[in-house]
Amino acid sequence: MHMKTVSLRRWLQRYTPLLAALLVLLSGSLLVLLMARNVLLEEGQASARLVHDRLKSTLDSFALQSMPSLQRVALHCPAFIYNARLLALHNPYIRSISLGDADGRTIRCSTITGSKPQPLPPRQTSLRFLYLPNSPLVPNTSVLVLQLPLAGKQLYFGINRLLLNAIFPTRSEYLETYVTLGRYKLNAVAVLDDKPRIHHTVATNPYFSVGFAYTWSSFIRYVVYHYLAYWLLVVVLAVLVFQLLVRLLASEARLCGKISQGLARGQFHAFIQPVFTREGVLSGGEVLIRWIHPKDGFIPPDVFIKAAEHSGQINKLFSVLVQQLLATLGRPGVRLPIGFHLGLNISAPQLAQPALLTDCHALMAMLAPQQGVLVLELTERVEIPDNAACYGVLNQLKSEGARIAIDDFGTGHSSLIYLTRMQVDCLKIDKSFVDLIAEGSRTDIVDNVIDLARRLGMITVAEGVETAYQQAYLQQMGVDMLQGYYFARPMPLADFVRQYLPQRPA
Ligand code: C2E
Ligand code: CA
Ligand code: CA
Repeated sequence: MHMKTVSLRRWLQRYTPLLAALLVLLSGSLLVLLMARNVLLEEGQASARLVHDRLKSTLDSFALQSMPSLQRVALHCPAFIYNARLLALHNPYIRSISLGDADGRTIRCSTITGSKPQPLPPRQTSLRFLYLPNSPLVPNTSVLVLQLPLAGKQLYFGINRLLLNAIFPTRSEYLETYVTLGRYKLNAVAVLDDKPRIHHTVATNPYFSVGFAYTWSSFIRYVVYHYLAYWLLVVVLAVLVFQLLVRLLASEARLCGKISQGLARGQFHAFIQPVFTREGVLSGGEVLIRWIHPKDGFIPPDVFIKAAEHSGQINKLFSVLVQQLLATLGRPGVRLPIGFHLGLNISAPQLAQPALLTDCHALMAMLAPQQGVLVLELTERVEIPDNAACYGVLNQLKSEGARIAIDDFGTGHSSLIYLTRMQVDCLKIDKSFVDLIAEGSRTDIVDNVIDLARRLGMITVAEGVETAYQQAYLQQMGVDMLQGYYFARPMPLADFVRQYLPQRPA
């Protein structure tokens, strides 16, 4: 199980740059496609709306101009034909005007066929504006027909197809705007062929509807011509992410190599920072790791702890600290105060390691004669994996007498989740909150954090106390323990023994 997680982690580490770059490439490309699609749709909608408005107002104007003069003569065919011919003469797009029976089967008077009755082919009567590829009045020509009721009869305008040519905006290279009449979709010059397209209907009225369509290939062409620069930017970004991660991982790998070397050469040292009760009595100490490199000097834990966690070296580092603690504090003649709390920082990945138990047992055995307590400090900033094994180790150690402290309390989001999963004994109020305490400054935030910690009924420790003012304030707020440069800096174990522990003859 553990082997599996390690090899999975290795695999992830190895392919992380590639996966991240692919993710950037895919999501960036998707974004570019969506952007292009939106702009294309907007263009299509604007064009379709324009065609709709123009066509509708043209048809309205035909009706408005003709109806009054035709209505008067609707019962007298020669007069109707005369008036209708005058109207058609004045409008270049009107080819014919005819009047037919109410049932729409026969034409009685027409500017083309005169007063001779003319049967009409059966068709969908619900259509009031239609396209006929074969005009019944002028064979072998196509025509648009607008049908309106007039004095209990049917009035037909034969409209030249060129009208559409006049009202369509300039043709787009990528989009087809069209007017739908029955089963026909007409663009400016022809009936749309039935290539597979993506269609959008934009506006509809009782006479016709207008929409637009594009093919996949025209969409791809559009993207290539108009969005290539954006896409190239995405590619550059993906390459940058890849390089950055490769470099980052390489530097982490270098750091891990350096840690291994440091371990082999004994460059890691356990320091300890004393912790005091609010009355100023020494109550415990926090063990902090120190890396003293012969060339680079002091390397702060923040620089290497993360890499050590990722590589699993954190376990070896922990064991090194434990060995040094046993060798110094467990030496015959060194006597810790009764009930001394020895705090060690634990990283979440360590919890799955059986070695942790062995190391902790050794420390607890060393502390036992003076009723000392081992405190495991778990940072709140990294979530403990929700897995039974991790909580199992903690709960076992707890049942054996160890205590659990939540480090950096208030800085993460999961404090309350921890508290529901295991019994926490102690909360360490993060230094960033203690920093807020200064003469004349507002302290509502720190007051609230302290208040929350106290209400949870746990021992509270304030870390990073640097001034007498902070010390007095925290004391008056009832915080149980205090730790910080104001009292003492982290120091080598030997110094701590010399300075704080009464020597007893061996
Ligand atoms: P932390 O556990 O919150 O440790 C407290 C940090 O605050 C320590 O920094 C300590 O030196 C510093 N500190 C204490 N009092 C004061 C103060 O009054 N003023 C200021 N400015 N700083 C103060 P350090 O030793 O650099 O450790 C940084 C972090 O590295 C620790 O934060 C802890 O998360 C991690 N760390 C240190 N040692 C270990 C270790 O052995 N194992 C693990 N897993 N993490 C460790
Ligand atoms: Ca700590
Ligand atoms: Ca802290």
